[in-house]
Amino acid sequence: MSLASIGSGSAGNAILIRANGTCILVDNGFTLRETRRRLATLSVDAEEIDAIVVTHEHGDHLSGVGPFARKYKTPVWMTHGTWRACRDKKLPDIHLFHAHQGFTIGDVSLEPFPMPHDAAESCQFVFRAGKHRVATLTDLGCTTRYMEEHLHGLDGLLIECNYDADMLRNGPYGEYLQARIRGSWGHLDNVQAAAFARKVDGPGLQKILLGHLSEKNNTPDAVTRTFNEHAPELAGKTAILAQDFASDWFCFD
Ligand SMILES: [Zn+2]
Ligand SMILES: [Zn+2]
Repeated sequence: MSLASIGSGSAGNAILIRANGTCILVDNGFTLRETRRRLATLSVDAEEIDAIVVTHEHGDHLSGVGPFARKYKTPVWMTHGTWRACRDKKLPDIHLFHAHQGFTIGDVSLEPFPMPHDAAESCQFVFRAGKHRVATLTDLGCTTRYMEEHLHGLDGLLIECNYDADMLRNGPYGEYLQARIRGSWGHLDNVQAAAFARKVDGPGLQKILLGHLSEKNNTPDAVTRTFNEHAPELAGKTAILAQDFASDWFCFD
């Protein structure tokens, strides 16, 4: 199984999951043109994508889903709650699921689990192909015991490092927005992400991808500093995802 980020951050998110002959796009916060351009850098044709799976209705995850799905007749999967909150109802092939109910797309099994986030019914996923398991964990205000248990024994983890607490406090956002981001239905900061990554680390965990960095309230340097201080034993496993360009493919074999 392999994973690549098409772009990660508060201005747009999309991830590719590939196993055997199946290719799944998770969210899409980019224009059609930008999506195609970035897919090309990963040697993927838009026609190859078997399905789009949506985590929640926020624009940085959903804005590019409708245009892509209409153009390529791609099936789209989302929870009932996300569909209710989704204003773009003109999707050619919609599949609804419950946030605790697993399903399969081609060679990939998806195990969704609900997220504490200020969206209607947001979820993240464990993707399984054969004996390999990779999870995404972005857009959440806090981690839970359930997540710790559920994400045990992973091969790969993509986790949100949304903000640096000092940068948020001293940054341009007003009190209300700061409280929303910091709250338990908002986003994870770098220290929370490092603490959680340590908890689910194990001998099989090959790669920890650090993503969804806020443009205004975080920097790659701040993420690296925090992980060096709070989770130094993970230094060889981490990579920071960029907003402006696609990552390489990360392979889990
Ligand atoms: Zn987001
Ligand atoms: Zn969100």
